[in-house]
Amino acid sequence: MRKYLVVGGTSGIGAETVRLLAGLEGAAVVFSGRSAEAAAELAASLEPRERGRTVFVRADVTRQGDMDALFERVRALPGDLCGAFNAAGVAGGDGPLRGVPFHEADERGFDRVVEVNLKGAWRSLRGELAIMAAQGSGSIVNCSSVAGLRSADSMSASYTASKHALIGLSRSLAVEYAPHGVRVNAVCPGVIDTPMLGGMREELLSDLRRKNPGARIGTPREVAESVVFLLSEKSGYISGAALTVDAGGLTGAL
Ligand code: NAP
Repeated sequence: MRKYLVVGGTSGIGAETVRLLAGLEGAAVVFSGRSAEAAAELAASLEPRERGRTVFVRADVTRQGDMDALFERVRALPGDLCGAFNAAGVAGGDGPLRGVPFHEADERGFDRVVEVNLKGAWRSLRGELAIMAAQGSGSIVNCSSVAGLRSADSMSASYTASKHALIGLSRSLAVEYAPHGVRVNAVCPGVIDTPMLGGMREELLSDLRRKNPGARIGTPREVAESVVFLLSEKSGYISGAALTVDAGGLTGAL
């Protein structure tokens, strides 16, 4: 059995990745998140055969106990952990588009973004790398953002900082774990149509048009396809990369 793990797989880009992985013959897909309701909805939307390949584990990335239980479940399934996608993330509450300047935003908001986006990835990566280093193979993708590669005035500075840090983690771990046969990459989506956009869809769209008239809001499927590629052996010579999935938006913005 080829095992996959999607941390933050209950919604948006993570959920779409679960969908694609569940379609693979011989796959077992463990996915996690806090919402058992969203997980049940996702499972119900899959074909019975694909649903049978999925296992949901309720786990908050900010709670080490939850993450330990998640990795116990992953280990208990037969086969190697071939791939892991760390998608759990939250947007910050500050930033120009939200009308909250950085110096007025409260400390708890900053801590929350770092705790989920960065420390959550840290907890996930430790569990994944322990398994993959022992088996001598595996591929990990961390969900960064184009906000991990440049300043993003449409997003909060705390979010942008956390996404830059994820690329640093990915690059360092790609080097450290190469001798163990493990690849680590980051995917950097542009603006993607998921619940994370909340009520900001129109503002983000006009922001996007201003920066790059050719760009459009992307679909979760378009990012998930790239993630599945990075998790597969087809990308066997790619590690330490930060792959932009933004229809050229980053190039246009500069
Ligand atoms: P989304 O639909 O809101 O999904 C966020 C996912 O993160 C959900 O599955 C959520 O699960 C999980 N999550 C949040 N807090 C968590 C916690 N404390 N513990 C465990 N899971 C948690 O948004 P999305 O756009 O698909 O976001 C996925 C990733 O893509 C994020 O890292 C985001 O920063 C990144 N990204 C998004 C965009 C975009 O434009 N949408 C662009 C670039 C990068 P529960 O609610 O069940 O906990």
